[in-house]
Amino acid sequence: MCVFCKIVSGEIPSTKVYEDDKFLAFMDIGPVNKGHVLVIPKKHAETFIDLTEEEAGELFKVVNKVAKAVKRGLNADGLNIINNVGAVSGQEVFHVHVHIIPRFENDGMKFGWRKLEYKEGEIKEYAERIKSAL
Ligand code: AMP
Ligand code: ZN
Repeated sequence: MCVFCKIVSGEIPSTKVYEDDKFLAFMDIGPVNKGHVLVIPKKHAETFIDLTEEEAGELFKVVNKVAKAVKRGLNADGLNIINNVGAVSGQEVFHVHVHIIPRFENDGMKFGWRKLEYKEGEIKEYAERIKSAL
């Protein structure tokens, strides 16, 4: 059983902030900022793209609810809402989870986005490849 399934079953402890019949939100034990929460479906699936559209929609309904509470409850200035898919993206726990990270002015956390440039015509090519896979 994976670590988050063990949290769902109660085999290992967690600090829960929200629970319903299908979803659970609990505190991340290694927070980017204090108040960092993870939202998971109780049913095991490895990654976000293993969910059906309906399951993903329901998950994000809960993410929306909990995100509002993190923002309001902690008086945060903003949030990062993040989901990693696959080891290459930084996923370490292979049970779907959405990170809700409270952000504060000058909290010293910097996500390292870079900005590449497309060559002539390339942006359309990439868009076409995505559209044809929908
Ligand atoms: P990711 O890199 O997206 O797979 O994130 C995994 C997250 O799970 C990390 O932020 C960890 O700190 C967190 N984590 C791992 N084990 C536990 C646990 N037992 N309870 C709460 N959070 C955990
Ligand atoms: Zn699991």
